[in-house]
Amino acid sequence: MNKQVFGTKEWASSNVNIQSGCPNDCRYCYAKSMAIRHKRKTRDNWKESEINADKVNKGFAKRKGTIMFPTTHDITMDNLLECITVLRSMLKAGNRVLVVTKPEQECILGRGCKLEEFRDQILFRFTIGAADDSVLRFWEPGAPSFSTRLAALEVARNSYGFATSVSCEPMLDNRIEDVIEAVLPDVSDAVWIGLPNMLNQRIAINCGDDETKERAKELMAGFTDERIKELYAKYADHPKIKWKESIKKIVGLDMPDQVGLDI
Ligand code: SF4
Repeated sequence: MNKQVFGTKEWASSNVNIQSGCPNDCRYCYAKSMAIRHKRKTRDNWKESEINADKVNKGFAKRKGTIMFPTTHDITMDNLLECITVLRSMLKAGNRVLVVTKPEQECILGRGCKLEEFRDQILFRFTIGAADDSVLRFWEPGAPSFSTRLAALEVARNSYGFATSVSCEPMLDNRIEDVIEAVLPDVSDAVWIGLPNMLNQRIAINCGDDETKERAKELMAGFTDERIKELYAKYADHPKIKWKESIKKIVGLDMPDQVGLDI
């Protein structure tokens, strides 16, 4: 029987993280909700990052399958040095790494990072859930603007020749076509589309205020089965558009049965 896989397992077979907390403070954040549930962080201090030096200095062996980095924080100017140390350590061991971030060009693509020498082992995945900055500012208050992320994508692909992909999961408004059309010219791999997962549960833990509840209700109300099927029909034959499990369920596609996707 095929084993169904979800979330990050749809993308990679293992994860690496070096920090607790994240300054982006996204309202829908799964890592934040888990940290609060397990009393490692609070609603208020999640945005204060604590780097784990042991994880930064840990050596890496070659792992089977692709490593996703990071999954429970972002790569920002505050932790760039430590993130680059860990990335280079993984890459030097011969690993293939899926680097997931809400990017700024000066950060992960800065000249000091020198990741180009590992170009063939890296796939960038830039998260962009809406093209409207007012939407991004609400849901991801500490994260870069749409134009900043778009510029980073362009530089990663065209100036450095990296393999590039985009995650539109979670979609943060009902105009995801704006993101898809803007990013496609600079995407060499894929654009992943996905709904917000367990949004009500996560915002109840992470935020708890009425405005977020109201915005979440409006957002989810727009994602009717009819609308998702229309979106799917628009891009079903596009070779670079891929669908997360939340969409596959609605349109009746087979679920994935494989972990450790090659990049
Ligand atoms: S960037 Fe990722 S880890 Fe950081 S708050 Fe947002 S969802 Fe959470």
